Amino acid sequence: MPSTGASTSPAALADVRGRAYATLLGSALGDALGATVEFCTQSEIRAQYGVLRKIVGGGWLKLKPGEVTDDTQMSLCVARSLAAVGWSPADIAERFATWFKSWPVDVGNTCRRGIARYINHGTLTGPFNEGDAGNGAAMRVAPVALATLADSRLLERWAVEQGHITHNHPLSDAACVLVGRLIHMGCTGQPRERLRREVDDVIVQFPTFRISPYRGLSTAYVVDTMQTVLHHFLSTNSFEECLVATVNQGGDADTTGAIAGAIAGAYYGLEQVPRHWVAKLAPALVREIQDLSGHLFERSPLGHRQPVVM
Ligand SMILES: [Mg+2]
Repeated sequence: MPSTGASTSPAALADVRGRAYATLLGSALGDALGATVEFCTQSEIRAQYGVLRKIVGGGWLKLKPGEVTDDTQMSLCVARSLAAVGWSPADIAERFATWFKSWPVDVGNTCRRGIARYINHGTLTGPFNEGDAGNGAAMRVAPVALATLADSRLLERWAVEQGHITHNHPLSDAACVLVGRLIHMGCTGQPRERLRREVDDVIVQFPTFRISPYRGLSTAYVVDTMQTVLHHFLSTNSFEECLVATVNQGGDADTTGAIAGAIAGAYYGLEQVPRHWVAKLAPALVREIQDLSGHLFERSPLGHRQPVVM
């Protein structure tokens, strides 16, 4: 098994478990924070909020404070599936379909098309599509990263397979794998330079993802989304600042927030997640996220490596 070199001492595993929780929690918080300013420009955000730092709901979806959107709901579909049955793209697709039929508050266009294809034809992947380079697959990859901790090849396969249920495009695939790898590295306590090197390696392979100079675009095109997430993650020094900077960029702010929240949650850990933000989420959601993150960690190759008790 390709190893991240993660320690398996009880203290180290407890730390990873906390970071796994912070990953899913961070993603939901980024979604809830960013949804307020989805589709806004930076100047519109500045005029209305100065800097948006609080979870206040509203936005074009008229959300209650702390309400989450498709980013979190689709991630939960993936997480619940992994926790219940292990790896099964068919089960994930079925959960997407059930969610889709429940009149969710928002569904992205590419996700809508992919789920409709599954419902009508039962296929778990569509053909390559030039229009599939949206961020809808990368926004829900965090649970796959937790379930594959310490096995980067398994991550690569599952991240792409879950993505292809709705998005079949090499840039989406690359983003899914990169987000997953950064979560692996964050959860296992790797230094920022290691995460930056991972980003640089992907940019060598896909130069379109380059973040310097930062272009300031934050649309649902996965390249714009990833540039915004990576730029702000690598140029801030706390969980809160990373998410605040990311969502105040506007555009697809709930999704940039969700992805930044997952990476920053893994990297900075639970202690850095603002309590006053968590208090805005529904308590049942927070409990489920904690339970699921624990299940996924325990099912992962790293969580399986129990230390020998003599
Ligand atoms: Mg959304």
